[in-house]
Amino acid sequence: MTQALPTTLQCPRVATREGGLELSRIVAGMWRMTEWGMSVEQRVAFIEQCVAMGVTSFDHADIYGGYGVEGLFGEALRARPSLRDRIELVSKCGIKLLSAKRPAHTIQHYDTTGEHIVASAEESLRQLHTDRLNLLLIHRPDPLMDFDEIAEAFTRLKQAGKVLHFGVSNFSRHQFECLNRRIPLATNQIEFSPLHTAPMFDETFDGLQDLGVAPMIWSPLGGGRLFNANDTNAENLRLVIKEIADRLHQPFASVVFAWIMQLPSRPIPLTGSGRIEAIGVAVTGASFTLDRQDWFRILRAARGHEVA
Ligand code: NAP
Repeated sequence: MTQALPTTLQCPRVATREGGLELSRIVAGMWRMTEWGMSVEQRVAFIEQCVAMGVTSFDHADIYGGYGVEGLFGEALRARPSLRDRIELVSKCGIKLLSAKRPAHTIQHYDTTGEHIVASAEESLRQLHTDRLNLLLIHRPDPLMDFDEIAEAFTRLKQAGKVLHFGVSNFSRHQFECLNRRIPLATNQIEFSPLHTAPMFDETFDGLQDLGVAPMIWSPLGGGRLFNANDTNAENLRLVIKEIADRLHQPFASVVFAWIMQLPSRPIPLTGSGRIEAIGVAVTGASFTLDRQDWFRILRAARGHEVA
């Protein structure tokens, strides 16, 4: 049953870097959209409800849903064209999947050649039924990537007005800085949650904070495992988060989103749900902060040991 959302719930906005692209503080991830089984009208309604809450940024990739999600979203934009100017569209390229839709692929691989980046972005525009992407990311670091060639392809797309900003995903600090020296990047979209804390300790967040670039965060709820993983560590972590959530009278997942957004690099979490109330719970996480001791209680439970 759909729960009524508080009408006052309003998501703030954030610049990914000074003077750069602005996104909503919570971004709606579309990876799982094919699983939601929504009609075109339901997709339009979902996007409109997100926008009404201030969640105006939508995360895609060419490959989501076996090259199908962008087309589903594009159908909604075709049905309600006035939505386009009220939202920011993010997409990604650089992975080639084995798919009946791509018969030329004989092995799953990466392709970050200039030719593929431009062709993939142009196909995303067609699928999404739009003339521009607000942000295009290289999906994964590619052992064969040539930083100069990627920067040159990004520049061509920008000059053509087809893509307004660029970034990467799953890049190390060093890989990010190599490309960012050639063309200013808006973000590095990485995995982070209480079940995956590596970016706090492998210089990813420190490096981005130093450059004033906000990371985007995928699987902030561990892809749902935060609710159902049954190893001892995850169970203890769940109890600690629940105790804090109950004490603060906040939903469990809001505490997790607040914990993530409190990092000084200004992480921008992506949601993964097609339930509008789950998007509301994420937005609620932007409305309060944890005190330092509660923040460290979650870190201690996440890592299973004391910080000192
Ligand atoms: P997530 O929020 O960690 O996980 C979403 C899952 O958690 C959904 O299955 C959802 O189920 C479940 N969930 C949410 N709230 C719940 C609750 N209160 N109780 C129980 N289950 C709950 O995010 P994600 O989907 O893994 O990733 C988010 C986005 O990141 C994706 O959509 C995609 O845009 C992006 N992404 C990027 C990369 C990359 O390499 N750049 C990789 C993966 C994902 P319900 O649907 O039932 O709510």
